[in-house]
Amino acid sequence: MRSSLRFLIPLALASLSIKSVAAHELGPHVHGVASLQVAVDGNILTLDFSGPLDNLLGFEHAPRDDKQKAAVKNMVETLHHTDGVFAPSPAANCTSVSVKLESSVLEAKLTSSNDGHADIDGEYVFRCGHPENLHGLELKLFDSFHNLHQVEAQVAGPHTQTAARLSPAQRNLSW
Ligand SMILES: [Zn+2]
Repeated sequence: MRSSLRFLIPLALASLSIKSVAAHELGPHVHGVASLQVAVDGNILTLDFSGPLDNLLGFEHAPRDDKQKAAVKNMVETLHHTDGVFAPSPAANCTSVSVKLESSVLEAKLTSSNDGHADIDGEYVFRCGHPENLHGLELKLFDSFHNLHQVEAQVAGPHTQTAARLSPAQRNLSW
């Protein structure tokens, strides 16, 4: 078990690409709260998700045992399975183009004794066959990540600028 996990985690991490954090407008690091920037540009939908790692993992230090290593791996797999994370308007026929995750826990920058805080950022890009039908997004990730209680969302598109506070009880963002 131990050796197979050691083998699998680098494989999962190898598929991640690193992106700049400069564009992220992180608010205060509040556990349970995350931000989501939604950009609609033609047939391309880009989602930038950002918040405390605790929201998705339950801890913010390097994994200390096999159980925590498995939790990291499970989080990465869950976040890459876009159908269970973000669901654009079905009629828009959007398909996932790329998922990029960035967190110090994924880059082995955290130490197991780290008692500070850490964040995770995810960039999701979709291409939509019928962008004229794209009017919203369901945040299905509330189903998988029960430490996540609130998402501050902002939407920027050619004809729309809106903001909304989403939660497990109000998981649909409309524009
Ligand atoms: Zn924290």
